[in-house]
Amino acid sequence: MSTIKNIAVLTSGGDAPGMNAGIRAVVRTGIYHGLNVFGIRHGYDGLVSGDIISMDAKSVANIIQRGGTILKTARSEEFKTYEGRKKAYENVKSLNIDALVVIGGDGTFTGAAKFIEEFDIPIIGMPGTIDNDLAGTDFTIGYDTAINTVVDAVDKIRDTAESHDRVFIIEVMGRDSGLIALRSGISTGAEAVLIPELEVDYDAIMKRLDKSRKNKSSRIIIVAEGDKEGGLVVADKIKSNFPNYDVRVSILGHIQRGGKPSCMDRVLASRLGVGAVEGLLEGRRGEMAGLISGNVTFTPFSKAIKHINKINTDLTRIVEILSL
Ligand code: ATP
Repeated sequence: MSTIKNIAVLTSGGDAPGMNAGIRAVVRTGIYHGLNVFGIRHGYDGLVSGDIISMDAKSVANIIQRGGTILKTARSEEFKTYEGRKKAYENVKSLNIDALVVIGGDGTFTGAAKFIEEFDIPIIGMPGTIDNDLAGTDFTIGYDTAINTVVDAVDKIRDTAESHDRVFIIEVMGRDSGLIALRSGISTGAEAVLIPELEVDYDAIMKRLDKSRKNKSSRIIIVAEGDKEGGLVVADKIKSNFPNYDVRVSILGHIQRGGKPSCMDRVLASRLGVGAVEGLLEGRRGEMAGLISGNVTFTPFSKAIKHINKINTDLTRIVEILSL
């Protein structure tokens, strides 16, 4: 029988579609199991300042379909200091909060791991980031929606590229991870995908562009923002190699974070929210709830935050084979 009676949930780091579905799942699972549930606003900043509200089943009604996060999110410098975390702990104690669920990315889990080590409070994490760059889950909450947003935008750009016989360089999000670029590249028929995990072979790209000219009038190259050079530099290189190409650059930016979460993200967030709360009640702590091969699985924060730098080479091969 668990001694946990009061839990709190927060969202932290960059917002991701599906965070609201995750908050809803945590609140309702907590209530289902007879717990009191609090919401911490503005991520760790709210934990430090005491911006903590009581949540009930109604407070999470009609949010499963909304992007962003009703609890707001922040990047908290204060929580990175011991003094900040001590203040956070005092707020946790004053409300008799026994355990936390944190929804965010690797920074969020790094902070959570420190908080557990220093103040011995049970915390379970849920992977909420569009980048899909955490170990211990096949997909993170927000990734599916983000890649579908990118695919939608690239399809539209393809229409104009095709009409004007243009080469478009499209920069997508992914500071450390090329997974948004890679999957959206495959599904939009991109001629090349440039990602931070792999060295760019410009000779091969130029050859591919030249060869594919026979078969198509538009060409699309997807570049992850974390790529060493970025979309503008790639465009300059292509222009100097092929002065007669009409090359344009489009940087998709923040539209990739917004919008209503996809069905996959809603289901993922719901499953992991239930898993996170029930994991706490079973005595788990310091772990991230993730989905591996269809099953809710718990992975220690120390493992989850290791960036997956090994890219599945099947995916990169597919881009090359299908870009003829
Ligand atoms: P995203 O993948 O969307 O960027 P994230 O969780 O990695 O999400 P960060 O801004 O890196 O986003 O981290 C979120 C918050 O976690 C930080 O603002 C900070 O409060 C806390 N945090 C990050 N690193 C540490 C650390 N080393 N020590 C304590 N807290 C940390």
